[in-house]
Amino acid sequence: MIAQQIKAAIRDIPDFPKPGIVFKDITPILKDPGLCESIIDAFVEQLQGTRIDAVAGIESRGFLFGLTLATKLGVPFVPVRKAGKLPFTIKQKAYKLEYGTATIELHTDAFEPGQHILLHDDLLATGGTVTAASELIKEMGGIVAGFSFVVGLGFLNGKERIMPICDKLIILAD
Ligand code: 5GP
Repeated sequence: MIAQQIKAAIRDIPDFPKPGIVFKDITPILKDPGLCESIIDAFVEQLQGTRIDAVAGIESRGFLFGLTLATKLGVPFVPVRKAGKLPFTIKQKAYKLEYGTATIELHTDAFEPGQHILLHDDLLATGGTVTAASELIKEMGGIVAGFSFVVGLGFLNGKERIMPICDKLIILAD
């Protein structure tokens, strides 16, 4: 039910951000408060019984539902940001993209060692971003409690890539 609602709301934008790519635009979801609430409720329901001490959301669309989810769970929100954006002392991790590399960063006081962190993003494509975020969290002494996504692009095999590194995987519209 929620999967169908999400799929119906998302629109395909051909040739964005470059020719040949069909971008899944999630912004129509944000215009529907009822659907946004259902998305948060679905995450909360599927996380019942899982220890979550903080939700880490990946810049930038991982912030949209990540903060609301953390607030609803009653735990802190941690922004995982692109290089050069965080003002305090940071730890960083570089990872490979199809062409070139990218770097993600976390504040050194983002969470305490031993805490269970849920990694959240809007969309799972190849899984490269969350894999790097998960490695960074582990290097900082955190435990990755699971991953949550609103949408997954099945044809890019991100699920197969991240399944071995997570105990809990939620993709609302797979
Ligand atoms: P991955 O690292 O899994 O290949 O890419 C996922 C990251 O790229 C996420 O942070 C996601 O926001 C972004 N991304 C890649 N393709 C799309 C897309 O078609 N739509 C949206 N909304 N985000 C995308």
